[in-house]
Amino acid sequence: MDKRDYYEVLGVSKSASDDEIKKAYRKLAKEYHPDLHPGDKNAEEKFKELNEAYEVLSDKDKKARYDQFGHAGVDPNFGGGAGGADPFGGGFGVDIGDIFDSFFGGGFGTRSRSQNPNVPRRGTDTEASIYLSFEEAAKGCKKSISYRQVESCSACGGSGAEKGTAPKTCPQCGGSGQVRINQRTPFGVVQSTRTCDRCGGRGKVIETPCHECHGKGQVTRQKTIEVTVPAGIDNDEILNVSGMGNAGVNGGGYGDLHVYVNVRPHPIFERRGNDVWCEMPLTFTQAALGAEVIVPTLDGKVSYKVHEGTQPGDIFKLAKKGIPSLRGKGRGDQYVKVTVEVPKNLSQKQKDLLKDFETSATDSKNYQNRSSFFKKIRDMFEDN
Ligand SMILES: [Zn+2]
Ligand SMILES: [Zn+2]
Repeated sequence: MDKRDYYEVLGVSKSASDDEIKKAYRKLAKEYHPDLHPGDKNAEEKFKELNEAYEVLSDKDKKARYDQFGHAGVDPNFGGGAGGADPFGGGFGVDIGDIFDSFFGGGFGTRSRSQNPNVPRRGTDTEASIYLSFEEAAKGCKKSISYRQVESCSACGGSGAEKGTAPKTCPQCGGSGQVRINQRTPFGVVQSTRTCDRCGGRGKVIETPCHECHGKGQVTRQKTIEVTVPAGIDNDEILNVSGMGNAGVNGGGYGDLHVYVNVRPHPIFERRGNDVWCEMPLTFTQAALGAEVIVPTLDGKVSYKVHEGTQPGDIFKLAKKGIPSLRGKGRGDQYVKVTVEVPKNLSQKQKDLLKDFETSATDSKNYQNRSSFFKKIRDMFEDN
């Protein structure tokens, strides 16, 4: 089966910036996240393809190899193993940066420390998304998250060499990962260093690569972990799970996992800061006479006494019924905004009762707003 172009998968151009790639990934990952399409094989495949594309295009080295060699540059099953020895082997040519360094100020030996093949390097951070209900976010919960993680290969213990064999010090560079070369230039003979093409800069060669990781010492696996989501987390926040990112090299430790939080809207509640807002429809009679009403809260139903003469738009507050503060103490409040529903489909009898009621009510006493409104109108026309 033909693999789709990774840029095409993410819907970005080849010149897209890291940021654009990240944004495109996040948008599509939200769209195809398996939590939102349970049992949909097509969405699952799309999500996998998406993660694979992002894994390559978000990694500087892998992206460079992909840009140069396409899928063959990043897929261990694709070719790297022709001679067998080393998936990074053959190197990807001379390290231009090294030659530049040797010309301009650097002189040889100025390789940055991070390029030294034996220095421990921490693994990269990785990301995943979770989808929470309003209540889960407000109260906190445990969620299992599935994501792609680079792990040290267990079959070879991370060495990259098949069990029973060991990597050998590279005979060409003596283990330094670089070779010095003399180059004739217009400035005379310049000694420079370049990445050893025998070992690809790793300082070691693997004669029998591990069958599991093809000599890389690392494998990418689907990993599932359970995370504790703290009460009060909000939509678009990022939960950092320390040490659950990708494995480092040379004992460099794991990166972190960044979990992007998505909170689904609630049919009744709306979050504003740590406060919860909702609307409460009352009947005309309840508003006029006052009533004991049932109000939904995060803690369940509570009973509330609406006072006589409550107006549409009146807001009442239920203290400490909001969302717990994520950082620090306390809880927000719940605000309930009253609406009044005017009855429809009245029977003739009901209409007659209302008409009787209307004739008995007086503007100045029962309808103060209305009475002052009409007074203002009268004043307005008297002036003219
Ligand atoms: Zn292995
Ligand atoms: Zn070497």
